[in-house]
Parts: sequence; C-alpha cells; structure tokens
Amino acid sequence: MTLKASPEATAKLKRVIRDAFRRHFRAPPKLTLSEWADTYRKLSPEASAEPGQWYTDRVPYLRKPLDAAADPACEQAVFMFSSQSAKTEIILNALGYFCHQDPAPILAVEPRVEDCKALSKDRISPMLRDSPVLRGLVRDARTRDSGNTVLHKQFPGGHMTLAGANSAAGLSMRPIRVVLLDEVSRYPASAGTEGDPVSLAIKRTTTFWNRKVIMASSPAIEGACRITAAYEETDQQKFHIPCPACGEFQVLDWSRVQWVKDETDGRRRHRTSTARYHCLHCPAQWTDADRWGALTKGKWVADYPERTAEGRWGFWISQLYSPWKKLGELSVEFIDSRGNAEREKAFQNTVLGLPYRQKGEAPEWQRLYDRREEWPADRLPQGVVFLTAFTDVQKDRLETRVWGWGRGKCSWHIETRIMMGDTSRPDVWKELDELVGHSWRHESGGYLYLARHGIDSGYATNEVHAWAKGHTYNRAIVTKGDSRQSGAIGVVRVEQLTSMGKRAKAGRKVLPFNPNEFKEQFYRWLKLDAPVDGDAYPPGYVHLSKRVGDDEIKQLTAEQRVTVRSKGGFPKQEWQLVSGRRNEALDCRVGAHVMAVLHGIDSLTEAGWAKLEQSLDPKPVAKADDPPVSPAQSRGQPATSGPRYRSSTRDPASGDRNWLANDRNWMRDR
Ligand SMILES: [Zn+2]
Repeated sequence: MTLKASPEATAKLKRVIRDAFRRHFRAPPKLTLSEWADTYRKLSPEASAEPGQWYTDRVPYLRKPLDAAADPACEQAVFMFSSQSAKTEIILNALGYFCHQDPAPILAVEPRVEDCKALSKDRISPMLRDSPVLRGLVRDARTRDSGNTVLHKQFPGGHMTLAGANSAAGLSMRPIRVVLLDEVSRYPASAGTEGDPVSLAIKRTTTFWNRKVIMASSPAIEGACRITAAYEETDQQKFHIPCPACGEFQVLDWSRVQWVKDETDGRRRHRTSTARYHCLHCPAQWTDADRWGALTKGKWVADYPERTAEGRWGFWISQLYSPWKKLGELSVEFIDSRGNAEREKAFQNTVLGLPYRQKGEAPEWQRLYDRREEWPADRLPQGVVFLTAFTDVQKDRLETRVWGWGRGKCSWHIETRIMMGDTSRPDVWKELDELVGHSWRHESGGYLYLARHGIDSGYATNEVHAWAKGHTYNRAIVTKGDSRQSGAIGVVRVEQLTSMGKRAKAGRKVLPFNPNEFKEQFYRWLKLDAPVDGDAYPPGYVHLSKRVGDDEIKQLTAEQRVTVRSKGGFPKQEWQLVSGRRNEALDCRVGAHVMAVLHGIDSLTEAGWAKLEQSLDPKPVAKADDPPVSPAQSRGQPATSGPRYRSSTRDPASGDRNWLANDRNWMRDR
C-alpha cells in the first residue's frame, strides 16, 4: 500500500510550512510613525497644554503626514503648514522614531544656531526624558563622558546633529541618512559663503540609497519661498473634507468664509461671531462644530498622483483645518490685518499657509507688453530731450541700455545692446567704445549723443577702470551700486558730482549709489496708466516701443520689494529677484536713471525744460559752426543749462571733439 497525499493536502502543508518559516525568520513589521507615537511618545509638561500620551487622532489631518515622515516609500516629505498646525511635532516624532526604530545618522537644520539650541533644550531634551523608550538611548548631555552636547547626541546605531542654516560648518560635516529641514522659508540665501544651505544639507545624504529628506515650514513671499517651491515639486496633497449636508468633498478656502456686516450710522460693523463656512457645492453654511465634525472624515488627495510613486510627497494645511481655531477668531485676525502689508503677509503665511504676493511691487509684465507704443526705429521720439546709458559687465558680455529722458521725467527705452565677448579681453570693449561715441537721430532732425554713460564696476573692476581711462568722465562714469549707501536719489547731488569731477584729474574714482530708491521709483512709474483720448502722459511715464521683447520686459520687472525683519525685530525693505528671471535690464535702467539725475533731471524747472526743448534744432548742421560754450559761460549754471545741451545736439560729423573737451572743462571748473 502506497501512501499518497492528495494534491490539496500537499498544497496546504506547503502553505503551513511557508507561513511558519516567515513568522520565524521575518523581522517583525515596523511600526508606522503614528503607531509608534501613539504607543511610545509622551508629551512633556513644559511643552504641551495636555501632557501625557500622544494621540494622533487629536489632530485629524496629521496621521498621513506623520506616517510619511518615516515611510520608506517616501524619499522626500514636504510639509507646507500654517503656524500652530503641529509641524514641529512631526519633526520631534520623526527624531524619536529614528532613534528608537530605525537608527541612522540624522541632521536637523533650523534657521539659526540659536534656534537649534532652543529646540534641543526646550523640546528634544524633555521628549527624551519623558518618553521611556528614548530615555535610555541617549545619554544626558550633562553627565560626564556622555559624548553628547546640546547640538550633538549619540544613540546606538546613529547620532543626531543640529545645525543652523546660517553656518556652513555645521551643514557639511558627516554623511547623513535622514535630513530634517525645519522652517526652511526663514533660511538665508547662503550659509556663510558656501551657498544654498538646503543643497549643502541634502548633499550629505548622497551615499545612502534609503535616504530621507523632510522639509517643513510656513510659507513666505511668493517667488522667493523655499517651501512653496519644494511643495510644487511634490504630489501636492491637500486635505479634502465632506460637507455635512451634501457630502461633497472639498478643499477649504478662505474666500468661502463669510459673516454678517451691519451698516449702522454710516459705520460698518463686522459681526464675526456669525462667521460660517459656505459649502462649495450646496447652500449649506457650516458652523465650527460642523467643520470639526467633517474634519474627522477628511482624506488626503494628491493633485499629481504620479509623483507619489516617485517618492515626492507634499502636504499643505491651513488654520481652516485647525481643531482649535474658530472661524470667528480667524475673521477677527483677517479684519485686523487689512490695510497693513506686514499683517496681511502674516495672515496669508501663518494662518492660510499660503505664499504672500506683494501687491503692485512687481508690475505685471504682460500689461506692459500689451501697452507698448509704435515709433520709428531710426528716430528718437519727439519728447526725448537727452540720452543716458548704463553698462552692466558680465564675464562673457557687456549689456548696455540707452534711455531717453524728457519733460516730467518721462523716459523712453531707446536701445538694448548686448555685446558678447570675454570681458577680460579687449575686443568686446572696442564695441563699447563705438557705442558711447554713437549718435541717435532725433525726430526733429538733429542728433543726440549720450549725455552721460555709467558703467558698473562690481565685476571685472580692473578692466572697467582701464576702459574708463580712455574716455572722458561723462562717457565713462564708473559706479558701484551699494544698498547700504545712506540716502538714495539725494546722494548723487551735483556737489558730489563736482568733487567726483575734480578727483577725476588725479585718477578714476567710483561713484556709489543706492539702487533701491531708484527701483522703487521706477516701479511706481511703470504702474502709471497710458492716458486716454489724447491727454498728456502722466509725469514719470515709461515709454516702451513695440521693438522691446517680452524677455526685456520680464527683466525690467524681475525684482520685488519685500519686507523682512532684521535681528532687532524691525521690519526692513529688501529687493528680491523673482525666481527664474534675469535682471540686467533693470540694473541698466537704474544706472541710466542715476545718470539722468547726475545730468540734473531732478532740479530742472519748467523753464529749464522749455529751454532745452527749444534748443532742439531741426537744422543741426547749421549749429555745428557755433562756438563751443566756454567754461566761464556755464560756470555757476545748473547742470543742464541750455548751451551745454545744445552742444550735445551737434551733428556727429562735426565738433564732437570740441563737445567732449568742453564738457570735461566744465566738469573741472565747477
Ligand atoms: Zn454641501
């Protein structure tokens, strides 16, 4: 008799053996971060209003972001959170989890070293003390030979280092598997002189196949905000919650919060206690209780699900999802913020968790493109009374812009000249020689030379000075933009110019100016609307011809003024480049404006302009025989007195040399 098992029995036996084998040899499944925190994390009394066991369910939206921070499927986790949304708790729980469950070399980066010390003492140390599974792992920094300090802690299988984004040394020491970047929107542009602190920190992880990068922050200024840029690269998950009435899922948006406004005795009263959330899909108006109830049924939905599989996960949350904040409180904050740019920004960033767009600081380039004007390419428009130019020096090219100036400080973009060539070699400078000696034909028939030409000495300083030596002062005014320069437009007054002119005898000097006020004035002027029905152009109007391309206009509007807080807590204005834009056109425009101020544009009276306009002669050839203006004649006259201007409208075929000599003498004598 042979013993033969049925195929069914054989299959069953195999399954049993396989399962037993797996149970015995496979590592126990790792906990998710939320499971770990719900089991082991204890909140410390000095850091929490409700000390004791951590419960993830207290904050309905937090489970998935928390799990993402330790999920091996997620290589980069980005948290763009409003303030008071448990962002720091994600960082702390992740630190505890990696210490206990998945030891690794960890680097946590805060904006400044001081922030690291505060985080270590006020949050990390209490967590290590009060969570029993962590207590034995990290030895107290105060005990002798613990090997631990406030900023560096060792545990079996790994270590935890804290570094300030302002210190390159802290960011570039050891290989790191887990990088936690906290409050990235407040990081400086460069860690010392070493460059982008985020790149420096992430560079430490390149040797680990299972590396993890966690970034968390509330946003800052649009276009210059690290967390917004990082979030946009991820799958962009948003928390959708269902309407208690119609059941439709939706992302909460501030514009749907409304409250009753009374108009009594001409005064408007906001009854913020009536604030309700208006459903996107039905007429339901949710109370705070409705909203909080719906939060527990919410789900995270990715806008770009294909990126989820690539391990780039991003989560955005605003205080509208807060289980603590009432809509009434948020509307009070909103009403208080209105009309104050600083507070409007704070509301947008810290309450709504969105980047702040500064109104009107960077004029919309498209609007400027659309309102361009038509004028002949070979003639300067009638309104142009004098020309200035400015050259920006780059490694591989010179970029010059020529601007025309007229009554009411209106200006015309005349020419963009990009001269390609290595600026450490002479060839490209010869092209600039030609340009500064060039004349432009005016609508009225005469010719205009550059009244003044400035050149930036910030790059290739020696070459710039060497080139300037071969030219008269007004054709090669060597400048240096310096935003610390006190004063702005007032700084380049004629008195200073005089001393510069005198110094020019002994050797070239640099004219400093503060670009910030010029940018601000230029952007104010760019916002002016073109007149309708043949009215005059408003003072300061910036004329752009149809030949100016979109790239040039994008460059002109490449920067925006933002308010930043200095160390003392005082708000400070700073200019920042809109990401992805170049700004040579803007720098050249600012320089050309400085040249116009040197030429006296700010001190001209109506009579002065009229005189200049009359001096535009339709028959420049006849004028060529006029005797040059003697230095004595113009002594004591304003910088843009008539005769001087007339001398600069001379026909290019005659008298240019005289004009140059005269201008130089005039400078010396003043
Ligand atoms: Zn509804």
